[in-house]
Amino acid sequence: MIDAESIIRELEREIASVSEQEKLLKIKSKYIGKGGIVTNLISRIKEIPPDQRKEYGRKVNLIKEKVEELITKKQEEIRREEERRRLEREWEDITVPVEPLVGHIHPLTRTLDRIIDIFRSMGFRVKEGPEIELEKYNFDMLNIPPDHPARDMQDTFYVNKEGYLLRTHTSPVQIRVMLEEKPPIYMVAPGKVYRRDDDPTHSPMFHQVEGLAVSEDVNFGNMKFVIEEFLKTFFEENVPVRFRVSYFPFTEPSAEVDIGCVICEGKGCRVCKETGWLEVMGCGMVHPAVLENCGIDSQRYQGFAFGMGVERLCMLYYGIDNIKLFYENDLRFLRQF
Ligand SMILES: [Zn+2]
Repeated sequence: MIDAESIIRELEREIASVSEQEKLLKIKSKYIGKGGIVTNLISRIKEIPPDQRKEYGRKVNLIKEKVEELITKKQEEIRREEERRRLEREWEDITVPVEPLVGHIHPLTRTLDRIIDIFRSMGFRVKEGPEIELEKYNFDMLNIPPDHPARDMQDTFYVNKEGYLLRTHTSPVQIRVMLEEKPPIYMVAPGKVYRRDDDPTHSPMFHQVEGLAVSEDVNFGNMKFVIEEFLKTFFEENVPVRFRVSYFPFTEPSAEVDIGCVICEGKGCRVCKETGWLEVMGCGMVHPAVLENCGIDSQRYQGFAFGMGVERLCMLYYGIDNIKLFYENDLRFLRQF
């Protein structure tokens, strides 16, 4: 007869060390697959004498059931073990404290806010204008004639709509305010401007703050005072300030403002090109033609205006030597502020 017990014992021995589903399937087929040990026993039933067939069949069925039971049990064991190993691999201790990711203010925004705060404390109001600007406001009404080099395609981003461009300075905001409001006017216009420049100290997009004061009695002396006060407050020290004669189409007289180099304290270094001075802004008395363009009587009123680059001031204040660092979003840079 059949030795059921030894078949089962042999199967148990075989599957005991198996840890992969694939190997288990091979064993399964060795017993109950086509031509398998148990399958063969079933097919041999015809050779068994009729009086023993019932008993034989019952026994073979028990073996088959036992084999299936053992295999299924083992399959489940392997599946659970695989799951356990997967969880172990993917396990993370969610109670471990991590460095919190807290957002903070970009150095340029911080600088822009500081500049605006200083001018606000002196009575200037903040005014804003569009970045896509009328060519008329950006150039013509600021006394910049059509043949002026600044209007060249090399310097200005024109948009494909006649008469519009990306503003090259925040000065057109002055025009907008003078067209809308009556003097006295005291305003600063912060914002993005665009020029076809790209090198370590120039970016095609950068920030400016423009200032304008118009009244019956503002003069060059008032302007010098406002600018000197601003620079001393901004750099938090009594920096030397000098005004150099310059030229801008929209101001007359015009001046460039320099401060004593904050890096070398006037001794001469790479940043100040060994001169001991750093150019920080342009300024001047508003050209009478600009006032008249905006319907302001230039016999009665006069004004002063100034403009500065925010990136430039930020770089000098923090000692940053490449303008590109502001726009790369490198956390190693940003986390220092
Ligand atoms: Zn220097």
